[in-house]
Order: sequence, then C-alpha cells, then structure tokens
Amino acid sequence: MTEKKYWDKEIETMPRDKLEKYQLRLLKNEIAFARKGSAFYKKYLPDITLKSIDDIQKLPFVTKQIIRERQQAKEPFGDMVAVPEEEIVYISASSGSTGVPTASPFTAQDFDDFIDCQARLFWRSGMRPKDRYIHALNFSLFIGGPCVLGAQRLGALAIHAGSIPSERLLNFVRQFKPNWTWTTPSYAWYLGETAKNADLNPAKDLSLRNFICSGEPGGGIKETRENIEALWGANLYEYYGLSDIFGACAGSCTEKSGIHIEEDHMIVEVLDLKTGEPVGEGERGEMVLTTLKKRARPLIRFRTGDIVTYTDEKCNCGRTHKRLSGVHGRTDDMLIIKGVNVFPSDVEAVVRSLDFLTGEYRLIVDREKHLDTLAIEVENTKKTIPEVQDILATAIKARLGVKADIIVHKPGTLPRETHKAKRIIDKRTKVWG
Ligand SMILES: [Zn+2]
Repeated sequence: MTEKKYWDKEIETMPRDKLEKYQLRLLKNEIAFARKGSAFYKKYLPDITLKSIDDIQKLPFVTKQIIRERQQAKEPFGDMVAVPEEEIVYISASSGSTGVPTASPFTAQDFDDFIDCQARLFWRSGMRPKDRYIHALNFSLFIGGPCVLGAQRLGALAIHAGSIPSERLLNFVRQFKPNWTWTTPSYAWYLGETAKNADLNPAKDLSLRNFICSGEPGGGIKETRENIEALWGANLYEYYGLSDIFGACAGSCTEKSGIHIEEDHMIVEVLDLKTGEPVGEGERGEMVLTTLKKRARPLIRFRTGDIVTYTDEKCNCGRTHKRLSGVHGRTDDMLIIKGVNVFPSDVEAVVRSLDFLTGEYRLIVDREKHLDTLAIEVENTKKTIPEVQDILATAIKARLGVKADIIVHKPGTLPRETHKAKRIIDKRTKVWG
C-alpha cells in the first residue's frame, strides 16, 4: 500500500469556494450554539442571518480582556462557556500579563479534534509512524503539552520529556535517538550551543533532524531558520498555536513556504490595525480567529494580537488552506521608533544574516527629549567594534528605516534563554504615547 500524502485529503485539499461554503455552514452552527448555550454570547452576538463568509465582519470582536472579565463574572470558567460544566474534560491555563490565569476549556470532542489536528500538522511536516518524537514543551497547564498525543496518534514513538534541563534532554536524545522535537527557536539554538559546549557536533553526533518551532517569530525568519537548520543539519517547521483554541492551529508543510491554517476549524481574518478593515495578501495586519467547531467555549472574532501576513495561493503541496507567510510578532511587541513600526523579528533577521555575530541580540528602547531611541546589543566574534557598528547600523537603516546605536559585546555576554527570549529592555516610563 502506498503511504497516504495527506492526513485528511478531502479537507486539506478542498477547493476554496467549497471550503468557504463549508465554513459558512459551520459558522452559522457555531453562532447558534454559542447563543443557545452561553449567557454572554446570547447578549453579545446580534441575531442576524449570515449570507456569506464576509458577513462575519458584522459581528463584534472578542479580546483577551473580555475573556478575563467574563471568567471573573462567573467563576471558574465564565459565562462564555456554552456547555454544562460537567461536559468539560480538560483545561489549559495561561497566566497572562495581569497574573490572573485564564482557562481554555475543552469538551471530550473538542479535545479529540485538538489531537487529530496535531496529528494532521505533524503528518503534513513529514512525521511518519517509523519516527521518534521527543516532546520538549512544558506540560504544566500549558496547551502545548498535549500536542505530544498527536505524534502518538499518527503512530510515531512519543517521548513525553517536557521542559527538563538541557543536559538531561540531550541524554535522552543520545539514548533513544529521536529524530523529531518541538521547542521555541531560542531553545533550539540554545540546545545546539549546549551540545557544542559538551564537545558534541549537533549535526553529526545527535539524531534530531526535524525541529518544530513555535512561540516566537524566529521560526518564520529565514535567517534564523537557516542558522538553526545548519547548526543541527535539520529541517525546521514553524507552527503557530493559541491556548484559547489549539496547541497548534497552523503549521508548515514540507514545502516550508508559509504555515497552513486549519480552516475547517477556524476562520482567519487579517485586519488593518488602524481601520479594522481586511488587508490584502502580503500586507501586515492583526490576525483575528473564529472557531468553527469548538463547543466548550466558542470564540467569535478573537483578536489574537499577532501581526501576520497571509497568502491564499494554492501551495505546491496541493493544500488549499490559507498560509501565513509570516508571524511578525505581537501588537504589544511592536515598537514605534520615530514613527516607524519596528518588530524585534525584523532586527533578528538582520542580526542573524551576519556571520560575524553570534546571533544573540537585545534591544534597548529609551526616550530622549520626547524622541524614542533604539540601541541594539550584539555579540561579535571576528571584526573590530567600529566595523561591526558600521555594517550593522547600515543594514538596520536599510531594512527598518530607523537609526540605531550598536553596542558590541564579546560572545557569551547576553543572557541565553531556554524558553521565550526577552529581547527588549524598555526604559521609557510610558510605553505608548
Ligand atoms: Zn503546503
């Protein structure tokens, strides 16, 4: 028997006109279900007839703030929940900036859909039953934890490692020889450096040849991806997840040209930050997601805060679902330096393209005489300090259109992060305004 190419061929390759009709049917169901079961949605959503997918724009947005408020209004799960509490079988919790954890609840069917979706994503990236997968994401209340079950469902060996010390993780890798793992891009880099410090060559002495990366923009930045791939002699696949929906809602196929969104589970909109109108293909905007099948807590027009670009073009892999061609960062990461929008991911692309730097970097944002200033700290391995300053400042100016001071350190000076890297030191007392 020849091996199947798609996990779910009919869904993944559905022509777009058919897909949109299917989405519209699901959307109507989801809204009816939300209005029937959730006290919040009954009041919040207007009772209108949706004639096309575009009519979704007539519905109001949901934000993280609303989720938090509605949860507090009816502890513990809130009045956005559309099923009886006893039907909830799983929650993940995210702490958020205020420290009040918000729960993302799942019914048994929601959880099964979640795991099937993870299996689909892994299959799409090329994982097969013969493979061994070591899961290096945190298990503690984190939505990324159960994703390991997707690898298990497709028949791969799934090693539930979690967030353990790097030396221990490397020992497991040497012992069981997994060829797949999932980490943040920062950690993929850090783990490689840890291996090198132990006199190991990651590309030769270790078995990991496929990295799934999420949680930071790095996996989508060509320069960062290529550096990690070269360090490990591996392929890097970028995934995008959201605790309020699934561990991963989108992921790269083996073409590695953008990340497909599971459009049978959600509707994606990309909207202009100022006007709220849809932006075109290739333009940056905030991603807004609507769940189509979630029952425990439907999410209608959820503002993710993630800045993305997308394409509708059919992929060479044959899949028709929209692709994100970049997750550039979060609206709250965006800096405005003298009127120019700057994302740390744009700086990263420049820093990681220069081979005389280690790839580590940090931004210091300050304000002098009412004007924001940007300094970039990097680590230099080969050139003189003035040379580094000159080359990098010119490259930053060319790519970002802003002037930056360059602070040059010796290798190993900047802090190495094992999870999400903190790349910005903001010395301004007031961030916006
Ligand atoms: Zn594809």
